[in-house]
Amino acid sequence: RELPGDPISDSIPRQVFHACYTKVLPSAEVENPKLVAWSDSVADLLDLDPKEFERPDFPLKFSGASPLAGAVPYAQCYGGHQFGTWAGQLGDGRAITLGEIMNSKLERWELQLKGAGKTPYSRFADGLAVLRSSIREYLCSEAMHFLGIPTTRALCLVTTGKFVTRDMFYDGNPKDEPGAVVCRVSQSFLRFGSFQIHASRGGEDLGIVRSLADYAIRHHFPHIENMSKTWTVEIAERTASLVARWQGVGFTHGVLNTDNMSILGLTIDYGPFGFLDAFDPSYTPNVTDLPGRRYCFANQPDIGLWNIAQFASTLMTANLISDQEANYAMERYGAKFMDDYQAILSQKLGLQKYNKQLVNKLLSNLAVDKVDYTNFFRALSNIKADPSVPGDELLVPLKAVLLDIGKERKEAWTSWVQSYIQELVASGISDEERKASMNSVNPKYVLRNYLCQSAIDAAEMGDFEEVRRLLKVMERPYDEQPRMEKYARLPPAWAYRPGVCMLSCSS
Ligand code: AMP
Ligand code: MG
Ligand code: MG
Repeated sequence: RELPGDPISDSIPRQVFHACYTKVLPSAEVENPKLVAWSDSVADLLDLDPKEFERPDFPLKFSGASPLAGAVPYAQCYGGHQFGTWAGQLGDGRAITLGEIMNSKLERWELQLKGAGKTPYSRFADGLAVLRSSIREYLCSEAMHFLGIPTTRALCLVTTGKFVTRDMFYDGNPKDEPGAVVCRVSQSFLRFGSFQIHASRGGEDLGIVRSLADYAIRHHFPHIENMSKTWTVEIAERTASLVARWQGVGFTHGVLNTDNMSILGLTIDYGPFGFLDAFDPSYTPNVTDLPGRRYCFANQPDIGLWNIAQFASTLMTANLISDQEANYAMERYGAKFMDDYQAILSQKLGLQKYNKQLVNKLLSNLAVDKVDYTNFFRALSNIKADPSVPGDELLVPLKAVLLDIGKERKEAWTSWVQSYIQELVASGISDEERKASMNSVNPKYVLRNYLCQSAIDAAEMGDFEEVRRLLKVMERPYDEQPRMEKYARLPPAWAYRPGVCMLSCSS
């Protein structure tokens, strides 16, 4: 251990000073834990033989009920800005790292149990996780990976056989829900908040910010020779690039507090996230974020910058970078975001060049008619670069996605499609080639909230087949999967009933 640890190793909630972590043992109560879902591709990352999943003691180990040989489990100390306000110490309140594995490619992977009991960072909460939120984290970590978006991964999902009580935010009544533990996997779980907490305490703890930065650079940015300036810029750029990808697939994280911002530019902490169905820039799945909508879909790029500003100011406080260097990192965030976002939108449209007017008009049309974001781009690849198509036939390829639109709106769309066709003709790419390239960036299948909810409903009744089937579909999001068409459908009416697909921060 190269970083300062907490000399005490109990799980009593407290402020942990001058330390990056506390050694704690998983303590979730379990009664007949069961392995209900697992990822062969994550096992592969870890050089774990898939036969290990069949071992009778696997669910015991991965619910935290029995120790993993050789592991020295710990919880990390971090802080964070929650909804724009400094919240002080947060930390791994329900996550416990089992340890790190070096695979045959010499990659270091950290294994972490989420929901395996209290730590000193649990504050007022129980350190546990319910099946509902664990299924969401498990499925979405993997879905994002297969969409090609940087993310923490999930090795497996184990039910504990015990119940966990949660206050339901929509009716205020407590409910007992099945408990579960997800094993998350990442090269690092360090967050902006991991640095912020020590800078906020000042004094000698500023030295911890510097040690932690050295550690992070040495282990995770080995191409950087301990240059804080270069490092800050790289983190800013990775974050910008991540957010641009979220915007591309219509992903809304839901809680972009600085403690949920990975220094590796990974999507981390799947709570009240959601993919857009109908395009709505102000979409947030997180009821805790109403009415302010700080973390709504359209705000994510600005929030990324706000978070980078907090991170850069932390490094300034520790004298790792200057004022100018902090400003430069923020400038780079802006530039990288625009570059990546424009490239992604152009690819989604099958164009080689970004056309601002065309994109803006499209996004405003999508919002006005509440068009399904995912299905629209998929359907768009059927438009032909043929200026001779008569006006009244232009919208035929989009018929299935432009629902219930009146005459006036038809005219608006026809005019947009006409400008789009002009661009397609100018690009000179064949229809087939363009369709293939568009379909390789516009997913057919995304993990819509209602799909998650259906899988959760079945799982809560003891049937995990739907969780596993959904994962299989989401492992090939860009492929046509003729027998799985129903997973590309719009949300059914029940998904809009109050409380159904509404999510909150804590679960
Ligand atoms: P989040 O909003 O999920 O990023 O969580 C914010 C903080 O609350 C983190 O420090 C979490 O570890 C902690 N936390 C969330 N849920 C629980 C829980 N059930 N038990 C203990 N700590 C929790
Ligand atoms: Mg979090
Ligand atoms: Mg969370």
